[in-house]
Amino acid sequence: MGVNLEKEVDVRYAEPKQREKANQMRIEKKRWYENNRELCLRRASNNYQDNRANKLEYQKEYTKKNKDKISKYKKIYHKNNKIKCANARRRRRAHKAKVQEKYDSIDGQITKMVFKNKCFKCNSNVRLAIDHHKPLSKGFALNIKNAAVLCGSCNSRKGTKMPDDFYSITELLEINILFKIAYSIKKEIYNDQIGFAKK
Ligand SMILES: [Zn+2]
Repeated sequence: MGVNLEKEVDVRYAEPKQREKANQMRIEKKRWYENNRELCLRRASNNYQDNRANKLEYQKEYTKKNKDKISKYKKIYHKNNKIKCANARRRRRAHKAKVQEKYDSIDGQITKMVFKNKCFKCNSNVRLAIDHHKPLSKGFALNIKNAAVLCGSCNSRKGTKMPDDFYSITELLEINILFKIAYSIKKEIYNDQIGFAKK
């Protein structure tokens, strides 16, 4: 009985000590890392290069084994981060097309507002998306003067067509006015920010 008690006491006092030690080690590790950042990064990079094939193989295997789990997680993530995902998809496509895009979520809000949150072509509000007015595939970046709102079906019908091949002359005139309005709103917001920063 006495031995057991001793053991109990030992454990009880050892835990905070161990925790403290672990904490100390963590702090030291962090300090070491901060002082040897270059070396650490080089090592990590070398390590990655050396094990790249293995890692890819492992990843492949893992993906194969956990298909359901991953797709379930992805679905939930997409549902909770719709705008983030759409932006990421757009960036990936822009990167692929080697086009530099500067179009942020405020720009997106301006575009949606100016287009009254409905499809410019058919007024539908099903599967609305920001469309590259002049197509990305021909090297045109998304910006406030090149972003229109189209529904899913109009967007896919438009595909990689140039605006002249998709819209009527009247539509082109109208959409160009909307781009100008969007641009002027953006400019106003931007000037406000600059003015605010100066004050
Ligand atoms: Zn439409």
